[in-house]
This record gives sequence, C-alpha cells and structure tokens, in this order.
Amino acid sequence: MSESPKKILIIEDEAPISNIIKFNLKKEGYEVDTAFDGGEGLKKALGGDVDLILLDIMLPVMDGFEVCKQVREKSNVPILMLTAKEEEVDKVLGLELGADDYITKPFGMRELIARIKANIRRVSGMAEECDENIMEFGSLRVDMNRFEITKNGEALDLTLREFELLKYLAERDGKVFSREQLLEEVWGYEYYGDIRTVDVTVRRLREKLEDDPGDPKYIVTKRGVGYYFNVG
Ligand code: CA
Repeated sequence: MSESPKKILIIEDEAPISNIIKFNLKKEGYEVDTAFDGGEGLKKALGGDVDLILLDIMLPVMDGFEVCKQVREKSNVPILMLTAKEEEVDKVLGLELGADDYITKPFGMRELIARIKANIRRVSGMAEECDENIMEFGSLRVDMNRFEITKNGEALDLTLREFELLKYLAERDGKVFSREQLLEEVWGYEYYGDIRTVDVTVRRLREKLEDDPGDPKYIVTKRGVGYYFNVG
C-alpha cells in the first residue's frame, strides 16, 4: 500500500496525554495534528483533510459532546471519543451525537492504535468492497460506492457507522440479527461496547430513514430477538 499517510486530529487539553498519543501515532506512520480546546478542535476538524478524530470530553471553551455534534452537522469523519471510566452514561450520549466509537481512559497505546486502524480500515474497506453497488427499497436508494443514501431523491446524512449498519442489514434480505451479532459483525469483535450501542444506532437510523420512527418500516424490531431490514 503506497497511500499517503492518514491524518489524525487529537483534541485533548491535557498536554502530557496529547503528547504521548502524538508520539505513538507518529511512530506508527500517522500524520498528527493537535488541538487543546474544543473551539480550536472544531476549527481544525472542519478545516482540513482529517481521516479520524480523537476527541476528549472534558475540554475548555467547548466540550467534546458539542464538538462532536457540530462536526457531525458537516462531516462524516470517524470520531473516536476518549471517555473516563466513570462516564458510563457519556458513552451513550457520545454515540447519540454521532461518535463512531469510544475508548475508556486509561487505555493502552496498542489498544488505541488497534481502534484507530479498525475505524480507518472500515472507511477504506467499504470503498473498495462496494463497486458500483446500488440498492433500492421503496423510496430509499443506497449507493454503496459513494456512501450515499437518498430518500425520495433527498440526501440523508448518515454517519459511517449508521451507514454500515444499514448496509449490513439491507444486504441480508430480512434475516434477523441479535444485538450481540450486530455488535460483533458491524462494530468488530474487538469492540468493547455494549449492546445499547446497537440500540442507539438503530434509533438514530430510524429517525433519519423512517417516515414514523415510532412505527418503523425499514429497520424492524423482532421482539426478543433483534433487528432486521424489511426489504419490502
Ligand atoms: Ca480533558
């Protein structure tokens, strides 16, 4: 692979943590940019060709949740949130705001790098594997090649993870998957999340796809089992 190096933006106010992450990522061949408060982070996140964002929650000027929310309004770049162990609730909030993944502090560098690789690989892997692949379901049109989904001709703004979950279910002709299976298949077996992650992502997807998210027609709950995509 002779690709240009991937660029990671670290938004973290604690310089010692930021520095050690930066040192280790550069050693792995990544290009690294840093921001030490939320305002600067948001500016850099939206200003350049960033391949992945590491985002701390407690930040001066603007907290990580607000940064995540504002980045998501404009970009689908993978966001990996850095959460402290006692911030269990915050993980779910982060995912609701569109973060792709989170890692709990204190974390080891090998784990962090594995997560970064998995999230970046997911982006490039999807681009390669979906060649000219377009699926249509009623008013929905899913363009696998360009990560685009439209409803009645209007583009919907999905995060990468939402897109990936939709793609996974839609390609499997109405087969029902448990939350555990989806976590393993869509998030990856190395993912340490819990099944609420799946529920949150499904809810977000429904809010974007469905005419009535409370009575979904596309992503349907099979009670006591899991979810499936209604191919119509
Ligand atoms: Ca902090």
